[in-house]
Amino acid sequence: MSLFEELEQELDCLKSKNNLRRLPATHHRGREVEADGNVMLNLSSNDYLGLATDADLRAGFLQTFTPDSFLPSASSSRLLTGNFDIYTRLEERLAELFGRESALVFSSGYHMNAGILPAVSNVRTLILADKLVHASLIDGIRLSSAKCIRYRHNNYEQLEQLLSAHHAEYEKVIVVTESIFSMDGDEADLNRLVRLKRQYDRVLLYVDEAHAVGVRGEHGLGCAEEQGCIGEIDFLCGTFGKALASVGGYVVCSRTVHDYLVNKMRTLIFTTALPPVNLMWTYFIIERLAQFRDRRQHLQRLSFQLKEGLLAAGYECPSTSHIIPLTIGESGATVWKAEELQRKGFYALPVRPPTVPEGTSRIRFSLTAALTEDEISKLITTIGKR
Ligand code: PMP
Repeated sequence: MSLFEELEQELDCLKSKNNLRRLPATHHRGREVEADGNVMLNLSSNDYLGLATDADLRAGFLQTFTPDSFLPSASSSRLLTGNFDIYTRLEERLAELFGRESALVFSSGYHMNAGILPAVSNVRTLILADKLVHASLIDGIRLSSAKCIRYRHNNYEQLEQLLSAHHAEYEKVIVVTESIFSMDGDEADLNRLVRLKRQYDRVLLYVDEAHAVGVRGEHGLGCAEEQGCIGEIDFLCGTFGKALASVGGYVVCSRTVHDYLVNKMRTLIFTTALPPVNLMWTYFIIERLAQFRDRRQHLQRLSFQLKEGLLAAGYECPSTSHIIPLTIGESGATVWKAEELQRKGFYALPVRPPTVPEGTSRIRFSLTAALTEDEISKLITTIGKR
């Protein structure tokens, strides 16, 4: 059998299990998505605050720069000539907002997670990671030479047992979690993790706030702000590509961690820096983050409404956030239900293995503040009883 036949067989196998993925032929039109002439409400974007499609914001941004400052490419790595002044300004502003010594910006959240862990760990490091952390974190762990043990999702009793059993064998231990989890929409108890970390020396905390930054906290800085523990998290990470309507990732950290990453982090060193125009937009949004409180509150109301609606319809719903799974179980039935919702005007997508465990296929709603309560009511009615 040729190599390509082997690949084709694998694709056929995915197809037979309803797990074959295709790049969707959709056009994003603000709150809506269009596919084959069907205009649907977009319930699958990460534009949690509705900023990406806000025409006033864009117009305001366009007024802030001249054609000369419109630079669509950095044309080299940050360590060569790509480290434009706007990087420094953005990082200093982030450090100031979070009240921390330093911040460092990366090309994406994926670069961030795939790069930090391999840079800061070695064979004498133990990584203890939540079972449900994102694929980018798994890739970071795989690229590192650390030993890794996954603890059951949000199960801090097990984490404590692992810490007490293995802590002494390693030079350092890094506990890795998300704050809002991307598939179940539930949350980590960051203060509990901080207390656990304090019981030991040489334990560091790595928190990915990809789905929480912008959405949570009085100033939109994420769950760590909401839970009052920003200063306790050694690697406080997030992405600009979701609620902040831009692109890039960041970590807020100590000056030492910052300097070390600049020297060791391969996904920072060996890639073209972000286009200055994107960094300028990110800066523009970051400056306004605290002002989006009404949008954060509206998003919370919508999330609560949908969750209550699903519970009342007989579904289980672990979510405590704006990411709300409708778990169906079997992949075929999930795809069928998603297609039905799409026919009825709601663009929601199925999430299947390997992204989620076998038997837990789901439709994943990720809500945005651009939706209305009426639209959520219609969605609940359309989903119907279990
Ligand atoms: N972390 C988490 C938890 C994510 O869900 C994602 C993207 N879905 C990323 C990181 C990657 O971020 P980015 O899209 O900026 O690469």
